Amino acid sequence: MQQFPCPFCGLRDEREFHFAGEAGKTRPDTTKEISDADWTAYLYYCTNAKGPSREIWVHTTCQEYFAMTRDTVSMEVLSTEALNEDAA
Ligand SMILES: [Zn+2]
Repeated sequence: MQQFPCPFCGLRDEREFHFAGEAGKTRPDTTKEISDADWTAYLYYCTNAKGPSREIWVHTTCQEYFAMTRDTVSMEVLSTEALNEDAA
């Protein structure tokens, strides 16, 4: 069983975490007209990079969202960091 490092709680079992999305996506401006294709792309499409990937995860035990950089090939966690207004 793999362990992930929560920035707030330390190393925890992977079953305590939930993938929340790809980091770096920009939500469409909902005050303007948005096509179904653009909205669908924002909600469902991911880069799905092979290798290092920066993602948003939530630790369900502490309910905190954070950024995790992990290698999608080796599954190695390269880093985790708390989100703040500058990092989101
Ligand atoms: Zn935590």
